[in-house]
Amino acid sequence: MVKVEAFYITTPIYYVNAPPHVGHAYTTLFADVVARFKRLTGVRVFYLTGTDEHGLKIQRAAESQGKPPKVFVDEVAEVFKKYWKSLDISYDYFIRTTDELHEKTVKEAFTQIYKKGYIYKARYSGLYCVECEKYYAPGEYIEIGGKPYCPLHNKPLEYMEEETYYFKLSDFKDYLLEVLENRDIVYPRHYAQEVISKLKSESLRDISVARPIEKVWWGIPVPFDDKYVIYVWFDALLNYISAIHYLSDREKFKEYWSVAHHVIGKDILWFHTVVWFSILKALDLEPPRRVIVHAFLTSKGAKMSKSVGNIVSIDEMLQRYGVDGSRYLFARIFNMDKDSEFSFELLDNVYISELVDTYGNLVRRAGVLAQKKCAGRVYRRSIDSKVGEEVVVKIGEYLEAMKNYEVSSALQAVMDIARLGNQYLNETKPWEKSDPSKELYNVLELIRISTILLAPVTPRASRITAERFGFNIENPLKLRLESIERYTVTEAPILFRKLKVTTQQE
Ligand SMILES: [Zn+2]
Repeated sequence: MVKVEAFYITTPIYYVNAPPHVGHAYTTLFADVVARFKRLTGVRVFYLTGTDEHGLKIQRAAESQGKPPKVFVDEVAEVFKKYWKSLDISYDYFIRTTDELHEKTVKEAFTQIYKKGYIYKARYSGLYCVECEKYYAPGEYIEIGGKPYCPLHNKPLEYMEEETYYFKLSDFKDYLLEVLENRDIVYPRHYAQEVISKLKSESLRDISVARPIEKVWWGIPVPFDDKYVIYVWFDALLNYISAIHYLSDREKFKEYWSVAHHVIGKDILWFHTVVWFSILKALDLEPPRRVIVHAFLTSKGAKMSKSVGNIVSIDEMLQRYGVDGSRYLFARIFNMDKDSEFSFELLDNVYISELVDTYGNLVRRAGVLAQKKCAGRVYRRSIDSKVGEEVVVKIGEYLEAMKNYEVSSALQAVMDIARLGNQYLNETKPWEKSDPSKELYNVLELIRISTILLAPVTPRASRITAERFGFNIENPLKLRLESIERYTVTEAPILFRKLKVTTQQE
């Protein structure tokens, strides 16, 4: 039996202090596109997303609504699931940090690390951001009017002093430098360089991994000291191993862990490299295979967040562009290096020029022509060499981009194929010919290829086109021109509707 290659991809687990917005959708959708692409190529994928449900921020959010935290997190977790369903997110498992298995895993890991001497008790004091759930050291925070503020949330930091448990992060500096410098884990590479420079220029301090229960009670108790709960970041990071059964199924765990790909925003890079790799090392585990980092989706120039107050809702996006339209646009503006400003004006333009006027228009035109001129049946003819050559180049560009997780570039290659199709129709004018089978076969091939390549991004539209035109969504790695003997076009679908109101007219 041939062993099927496995692939494990994760999103960060999201704080349930508020419902998801387009910033969450941006990350989740990207991971979904990668997962769907991998599945199409025959890989056995485990796609994990979920919710981060402990900590002070959530305890306070629940209190402000007069609800017990568990009731509150149950409700919000459902809201996340509802949105992922409405965006066709194909996760394989939705982890919640209040899951019993996860809690058991965290306790076990905490105890193991404690027994190895990497966790110890001492007094801690410092400036803390409740929104980040993180202590800020001098140099890390900004000052406004002489007072320390969180650079991400623009809120004053709180001074905290407590006896707590520390994790000996300082012990791992050499290990971290060795791993980050010699292994190709963090992608794009410049993010690894950022962490390396920071590691080299600063001393690595031990970090607090527990909170006294009188300050925060909503968390996983320290297994050997019930006066403390485990720090929410430590708890959350372990979701990546608890979900693949680190405790209960070593075989499954080993298989998936060796191919773990974390998708994260650049704001949590430090945690997902320095802190996470050290925890893993303390557990005698390898770092993940890849950490794929993306830049922010900004709104009015800042990262979208509840506390900044610049959120765009997923509902707005869905109402305007539909499911596939929204998915396409998220993928199309996805950027690992540069922040992408969320603007309906820009998105309207991309939606209209690419989905409505290019791909959608091509499918509609070719469908109508095939029905009118050939009664919907188009038999195999040879592909024009010029068309064939260009398509092969574009497929190559798409696959290369997908290999590097550059979904936006991949989509540009697909649009080039669709543009080629429209241009080919304009030039060959099949509507003027008595038998335009050759022209239509050529253009249907271009539609088939672009539809298959779009499938990870616009699964519904791709399925409709494939069904109405009579072909299958195949493995994109094995695409071959002239492989279809006959197209049977039963309908010329209108896949993407024109926008009722565009921002220009508003
Ligand atoms: Zn903050």
